[in-house]
Amino acid sequence: MQEIIQLHDKKFIKFISDEQIDEAVSIIAEQLNKDYVDDQPLILVTLNGAIIFAADLLKKLQFSSVLSCIKLSSYEGTTSTDNMKTLIGLTEDVKDKRVLIIEDIVDTGNTYQTMVNLLNEKGAKEIRIATLTMKPDAYQLDLPVHYVGIAIPDKFVVGRGLDYNGLGRNLKDIYQLFTEE
Ligand code: 5GP
Repeated sequence: MQEIIQLHDKKFIKFISDEQIDEAVSIIAEQLNKDYVDDQPLILVTLNGAIIFAADLLKKLQFSSVLSCIKLSSYEGTTSTDNMKTLIGLTEDVKDKRVLIIEDIVDTGNTYQTMVNLLNEKGAKEIRIATLTMKPDAYQLDLPVHYVGIAIPDKFVVGRGLDYNGLGRNLKDIYQLFTEE
């Protein structure tokens, strides 16, 4: 795959390799296999971005779990907004359950906060989050982010489920927005 790719009007440069990502997924899986041993959490995948990470991760999990999906939207183009929309809501009963949110990326934390509020309202016993990538410099919450695959700078990325206006989710490596100086 090329080092620089074009999606719509923007160029992106290869940033994190497939192998590095696989390694990060395996490390998270190992941690989860310890922390959820003999338990049966509800695994809540955030659509659409986390699908690929979730599929890679779930194959490595050795404990039993129930899988469900939720779809929230806060992104317009390449910037996060506070305007959170629920596109597909929570369908599973979460009362008294341990819930593990699966995210592709945690940026400002708005999406995470919205999910935590929703799950608390519905009586979840415990809420944790596993995210493939996180932008610590953009994160605005005090809530812990329990399992982080790769911490990245506050710059827009695509690949491994992450898109730019619909494109780029299928890229196996992660690419960063390329700006010519
Ligand atoms: P937050 O609510 O934490 O600000 O952002 C979370 C959501 O914004 C993610 O689930 C993802 O959909 C989107 N997002 C945040 N940063 C990026 C990025 O660098 N690239 C892409 N493609 N999406 C992002």
